[in-house]
Amino acid sequence: MTSNTNSTNSEENSPNYPSTNSKSNNEKTQIPNGGLIASPHGQNDCIQGQEQSWGSMLGTGEMVVNGATVDLHRSNKDVSVPVKVPVNCANGLEVMKSMGLVPIDNDDFKTLDRPHVQELDDILGLAWPALDHGFVRLIDYMGDQEAIIQAARVSYGKGTKSVIEDTSLLHYLYRNRHSSPFEMCEIKLHVKLPIFIARQWIRHRTASVNEYSARYSLLDNEFYLPTADKVACQSTDNKQGRGDVLPLDKALEVIKILREDAERNYADYEKLLAPEDQKGFDVARELGRINLTLNTYTQWYWKVDLHNLLHFLSLRIDSHAQYEIRVYAQIISKILKLWVPDVFEAWEEYSLQAKTFSKSQIAVLRKILAFAQKAGLSEQELTQYLQIQGVKGREAREFKDLLIG
Ligand SMILES: Cc1cc2nc3c(=O)[nH]c(=O)nc-3n(C[C@H](O)[C@H](O)[C@H](O)COP(=O)(O)OP(=O)(O)OC[C@H]3O[C@@H](n4cnc5c(N)ncnc54)[C@H](O)[C@@H]3O)c2cc1C
Repeated sequence: MTSNTNSTNSEENSPNYPSTNSKSNNEKTQIPNGGLIASPHGQNDCIQGQEQSWGSMLGTGEMVVNGATVDLHRSNKDVSVPVKVPVNCANGLEVMKSMGLVPIDNDDFKTLDRPHVQELDDILGLAWPALDHGFVRLIDYMGDQEAIIQAARVSYGKGTKSVIEDTSLLHYLYRNRHSSPFEMCEIKLHVKLPIFIARQWIRHRTASVNEYSARYSLLDNEFYLPTADKVACQSTDNKQGRGDVLPLDKALEVIKILREDAERNYADYEKLLAPEDQKGFDVARELGRINLTLNTYTQWYWKVDLHNLLHFLSLRIDSHAQYEIRVYAQIISKILKLWVPDVFEAWEEYSLQAKTFSKSQIAVLRKILAFAQKAGLSEQELTQYLQIQGVKGREAREFKDLLIG
């Protein structure tokens, strides 16, 4: 079996990214196929560029960048000549100034440090195995918990208060569905997954996707086969789900059928694509692929903001989701925990392990509480009991308002 972890959009091969051979200050991480990835953010982020055409450049003078003189003003009129600004240029601010842009001189607008989460930087580029041949691999992320808090407080710079206040603000925002601050954070993953899972995943429309193209490239001879303990019969109470696991001998027979079908179809795929002098049909890849089984693996880059990631995880980690997509959701939830631990906690508390009550159900709960109060439960005792259960402060008030009205 071959192992190909390159995406058609693999940024390691892009001219804007450090090549696998280039020296960089950034930590490099080995991935299973021997590829390397460095953080897309250099230690000193500056304007990256190869050949850039500045539409309107009125700056004057030359500048020395990495020892080379760069003529930034071929004339003092509008120019549209390509100018080379090497990667790792000395100072982005100087380049901006040389192009005639001077930043606003105001204490509110000082340079900011790029938010970074060390735990995520530590795992950038590593591939976490999923199912038999799949993986989830963190490629990049933008923002951290502080970015959410900053957005909520609509402020620049560090302007946050104590850790406890920030945590409770995150919980408050999440609990009350103030979702846009969570959209300030984004994550980009490289995922290898069977096509039948990709079909479920792609239904989440609020992400950006670039998939391996089987019109350009050959699909690998890799297909998902469930382990025997996951081969189950149709559930009787859940029309979409699995019921009891099949006896081992039956399960092995099922796996054999799945394997043989996938292998036969892949052999035919190769025959269709092979040139005529190799006894093939020289069929276009876009057509040859149509006979492959749905358990064939594909790959994509998937970028999503935190709000929509939490929505995706809530749906796909749930026991109603198919086991195979849950495996991926579980891995991503662990990355989430490293990235934004307090948000993870809020998501567990208010989404994953929470339930929504209908108007009628709330009416019943109110009646039950009224009975308890008639039987002698005081408001103070109720408050104490909520505190013992970890429902405190504003959240306790919200709960009491809901139940007492
Ligand atoms: C257990 C399970 C079983 C499922 N079974 C089936 C099935 O049998 N058949 C089937 O076809 N699908 C099925 N689905 C897919 C499901 O119906 C959704 O399409 C999928 O989960 C994506 O959810 P979403 O639209 O909320 O997510 P996203 O597409 O990520 O959208 C997130 C949110 O953005 C908003 N949004 C996005 N696009 C639009 C839009 N065009 N208009 C209005 N609001 C928008 C909505 O509020 C939405 O909730 C299933 C999903 C699950 C989890």
